[in-house]
Amino acid sequence: MTVKAKKHLGQHFLTDESIAERIANTLSLQGYDNVLEIGPGMGVLTKYLLQRKTKTHVIEIDTESVEYLKANYLNLADRIIEKDFLKYDINQVFNQQPFAIIGNYPYNISSQIVFKTLELRDQIPEFSGMFQKEVAERICEKEGSKTYGILSVLTQAFYDAEYLFTVPPSVFNPPPKVDSGVLRLTRKDNYKLTCNETLLFKVVKTAFQQRRKTLRNSLKTFNLSDNLREDSIFGQRPEQLSVQQFINLTTRIEQDLKT
Ligand code: SAH
Repeated sequence: MTVKAKKHLGQHFLTDESIAERIANTLSLQGYDNVLEIGPGMGVLTKYLLQRKTKTHVIEIDTESVEYLKANYLNLADRIIEKDFLKYDINQVFNQQPFAIIGNYPYNISSQIVFKTLELRDQIPEFSGMFQKEVAERICEKEGSKTYGILSVLTQAFYDAEYLFTVPPSVFNPPPKVDSGVLRLTRKDNYKLTCNETLLFKVVKTAFQQRRKTLRNSLKTFNLSDNLREDSIFGQRPEQLSVQQFINLTTRIEQDLKT
């Protein structure tokens, strides 16, 4: 018995065991006892995770995959969560304890998976796995590049992001149309920011919604003082600002809004 790939669930099953093992080994396993794999499918990564000292849990939306896992990984049975990761309150399982996330993710919801991880960052010291290559690169990108955007700034505000290696379509069944990329996010020691974090999300999203405009134009809706808007940083476009500059800018906007 194998699982029939369903397109609407982003199912592309990895068939290369050595790549699966390499991906499973991207987690350091330091600083937490639990690992959550998102979208295990038929368990190609799971079996390597189960060999390691941490406790492996999996969350899988597809009933057919869950049946397969239950039949083939008997020691995993009570740690299979049959739910949609984006909708499920994962603290029903982890109860505020730290855990790492790993996966060969469904590419159709990969950005949402990263955003949900950022929301849960207090509990997630490490995150790794495979995305569509372009998305993995975008997350790790630095300022000055066309692909640097919301996902890059917000992820790197809290995590060190490393692009690890590229995986070709030929090692999947069915093969996706694009290359894939494996990355690792390691939470920074100083991930508690000096600025208002909610405001940072708002500033970054608003600025990149009109990425070709200067901040003076794109941040108009914040009703900032003329004094602040005359600062030279407001003559820049969002892709020119480093993560630290976004954090400093947010602090100044916060002060300006108070006066
Ligand atoms: N990790 C497996 C499967 C990758 S395909 C492998 O490498 O072969 C992506 C997997 O994510 C599929 O099994 C799919 O059913 C699952 N999935 C898709 N959307 C999901 C969601 N919202 N929550 C949990 N799992 C999901």
